[in-house]
Amino acid sequence: MSDNALLAIDQVTKTFPWGKHRIEAVRRVSLSIGTAETLGLVGESGSGKSTLGRLAIGLLAPDRGTVTVSGVNLGAVAPRTLRTMRQTLQIVFQDPGAALNARVSVAANILEPLVVHNIGTRDERLRRVGRLLERVGLTTAHGPAMPDELSGGQLQRVMIARALALGPKLLVCDEILSALDLSVQAQVLSLLDDLRTTEDLAYLFISHNLSAVAYLSDRIGVMYLGELVEWAPTAALVAAPKHPYTQALFQSILEVPTSKAARKSLTGIPGEVPSAIDRPLGCAFHTRCPLAMDICRQEAPPWLTVGDQHQAACHALAAVEEG
Ligand code: SF4
Repeated sequence: MSDNALLAIDQVTKTFPWGKHRIEAVRRVSLSIGTAETLGLVGESGSGKSTLGRLAIGLLAPDRGTVTVSGVNLGAVAPRTLRTMRQTLQIVFQDPGAALNARVSVAANILEPLVVHNIGTRDERLRRVGRLLERVGLTTAHGPAMPDELSGGQLQRVMIARALALGPKLLVCDEILSALDLSVQAQVLSLLDDLRTTEDLAYLFISHNLSAVAYLSDRIGVMYLGELVEWAPTAALVAAPKHPYTQALFQSILEVPTSKAARKSLTGIPGEVPSAIDRPLGCAFHTRCPLAMDICRQEAPPWLTVGDQHQAACHALAAVEEG
C-alpha cells in the first residue's frame, strides 16, 4: 500500500445483520488507489465489490479497519468534515433511472449537488451545468429535457456529469456499463478514459465486464466472497493470473451476461459462490477449486508476492514456492 495514496483501505471488514447473525460482506480487505489511478475490481455477484465501493467513499462505515482519503481517516473525522470530504468522493450507479430524480429536468439533477453544498451563485451553477453537459458529450439542449426523454447511454452521461459537479478526485463506478448495449459501453468507456486525464480523476471501477476492466484499469483486484484474493498491474494479471479463481474467471468469459440470473454462476467455474452466512473455513474458494488440498479446508491462505506488484493468496502457490 502506498504511503501517499489518494485512497487507502486497510484491513476493512463490513458486516450486515442477517436474522440473529451477521454476515461478512467484506472481509479484511486492504488496497490503495493513487491520484488519477484506476483500480478495477472483478468477481462474481456476492463478492463484495459494491459494498467495498460504498466503503471507499464513506457511504458505509467499516466494522473494523480504516478507510483513509489523502491521509485522513474517514472514521475519525466529524460528520461535517466527512460531508465536506465526500465532495471529492463520488459514485455512479448501475441504474441511472433509479438514481436520478425523474420529476425534475436533467439540468436540475446535475445542479442538485451544487445546491446541497451551497457552491456558487445561481448563474455560476447554471454555467457549470452547461459545461458539464458538454464535458460528458451532451449539449446544453439536453438540460431542459426530463430523464425519461433520454436514452440509457445519455442518462449514464448525465449521472457522470452529476458526479463531476463537485470536482471529485475519486469516482466509484459500480457496474455502470451493465445496462448499456455494446456500442454505448464503448462510448462511455472512452469518456471515462478521457476524463481521468483531463479531470485528474481516480476510479474504482467495478464491473463484471472483464474486457472493460482490463481496458480502463491500471491495476486489477479480484474478489471472492468478500475477500481480495489477487491483485496486480492489469497487463500482468491478464497475461498470467496466478490464483485459481482468477484463472477460472478469466477463462470463463470475456463478456459476461448482463442478467443477474445468468451472472450467478459463471460458466467454466463449477458450482456457485457459497453463502456468506455459511462461509467455508480456510480458503473460501476450496469448495470449487480443482487444486484444493487439505490445508485449504483448514487454514486461510497466505499472501504471496508472485511478481512485480503482483500478489495472490493461495496455498497451492505457497507449496510451489516452497517446493
Ligand atoms: Fe484453491 Fe487452496 Fe489456493 Fe484456495 S488456497 S485457491 S482452495 S489451492
